[in-house]
Amino acid sequence: MPAYDPNNIFAKILRGELPCFKVYEDDKAFAFLDIMPRAPGHTLVIPKAPARNILDCPADDLAHVAKVAQKIAKASVGVFGADGVTVQQFNEGAGGQVVFHLHVHVIPRKAGVMMKPPASEKEKPEVLAEQAKKLAAALA
Ligand code: AMP
Repeated sequence: MPAYDPNNIFAKILRGELPCFKVYEDDKAFAFLDIMPRAPGHTLVIPKAPARNILDCPADDLAHVAKVAQKIAKASVGVFGADGVTVQQFNEGAGGQVVFHLHVHVIPRKAGVMMKPPASEKEKPEVLAEQAKKLAAALA
């Protein structure tokens, strides 16, 4: 497996070098909205420590990311009126991973509504800003 690349997009977001729509942060994890959401409220949860994916992430960091993903899943049900939540996590290109800093997708779902294909459409910044504000408030 290739080494962790500190210049990946999510590492730049963590360092504040690129903007994001933040919804949650603690000492070990960070969460922000996906800019090409597969459904409204699609959130990405990442460890603050460098990890390419599940194959090199220390177990404790992974466990913490899972705890935060659960917190966000629960909050998103209320905020987005979801009937369910899809949680996904991809590893290496062969596993569907595109950005090589470990991340868990938390995707609120409505009954009978298909998810959009991955990376199909950028959401408007003002829409993401409003959604991030509501989700962050529910998580505070
Ligand atoms: P994957 O690596 O396949 O699990 O997916 C990477 C995800 O990152 C995709 O859902 C993209 O829409 C999302 N993404 C890519 N760039 C950004 C960004 N700058 N901010 C937020 N999400 C992003």
